[in-house]
Amino acid sequence: MKRIAVLTSGGDAPGMNPAIRAVVRKGIYEGLEVVGIYNGYQGLIEGKMEPMTLGFVGDIIQRGGTKLYSARCPEFQTEEGQKKALEQLKKHEIDGLVVIGGDGSYRGSMILTKQGIPCVGVPGTIDNDIPGTDYTLGFDTALNTVVEAIDKIRDTATSHERTFIIEVMGRDAGDIAVWAGLAGGAETILIPEVDESMESIVKRLNSGSERGKKHSIIIVAEGVMSGTEFAEKLKDYTDIDTRVSVLGHIQRGGTPSGRDRVMASLFGAKAVEVLLQNKGGRAIGLRRNEVVDYDMQEAFEGSHVFDLSMYQLSKELSI
Ligand code: ADP
Repeated sequence: MKRIAVLTSGGDAPGMNPAIRAVVRKGIYEGLEVVGIYNGYQGLIEGKMEPMTLGFVGDIIQRGGTKLYSARCPEFQTEEGQKKALEQLKKHEIDGLVVIGGDGSYRGSMILTKQGIPCVGVPGTIDNDIPGTDYTLGFDTALNTVVEAIDKIRDTATSHERTFIIEVMGRDAGDIAVWAGLAGGAETILIPEVDESMESIVKRLNSGSERGKKHSIIIVAEGVMSGTEFAEKLKDYTDIDTRVSVLGHIQRGGTPSGRDRVMASLFGAKAVEVLLQNKGGRAIGLRRNEVVDYDMQEAFEGSHVFDLSMYQLSKELSI
């Protein structure tokens, strides 16, 4: 292994920049040449890449987004696109590749691994939904963004004695919703993993108002339905006055939190170590607080383990 490359792909997440920095610096520290590929697989196909220097990754540890840009690339899902990508890797004499992204990006990298270029995946998504790892980069920053928003919305909810419905991201996972709901003291949390009846939700809202609660925060994970849809549905059951707030893409941006910077540094460095052992088709993750590498296949064939006990606790604490 003499020259490795790094790219970011799929949805961006805070923590991608510190992960790029870790790959570049650890690679150079180990005596490797490191190439940065722009715009994910699209840039790889087009040969948009350049050698990375220590300075290129200076002053990015604290920045959201990704300095290498990210993209979704349908062309890479075709055989022709994959062939072009492989040709570029061979032309630039790249012996191994670190892919920072979600499970879609992992699938793509598995194809390259099978064609002889060892790839290692670093989990970068705010959704915390990649199977095989307890943590994905960006989750902590997104969580803090949502909690901050809940705190602000609670101020106005209290002043106006209103119920707020806050729609949060997470794709098909309820991690952001449950963690943010627990941290923000939400009264009700709707997640894709649990099918709660409208009757039970309304019962809880009513019992709250019966004991004098003047406002309420309801978190709806996007994987359940939109906040607006839920508000409409609620109208059929109660005349509680609600307002909807969709947090949207602010959840994907912002300065990575301390935890995300540290995890990104650990994950990025581990990815380089794995490549140095000539291992491909591996994913980096956190298991029981230990940074590990595991079979990447598990990341897109397994299912994300959701901690139901946290959901249960959020209910117990919001009686
Ligand atoms: P994420 O990595 O965040 O899950 P996507 O699912 O959009 O994001 O995947 C990012 C990119 O990875 C896609 O645009 C495509 O180029 C590549 N990719 C995704 N799935 C596959 C696949 N099955 N085969 C080859 N490439 C894929």
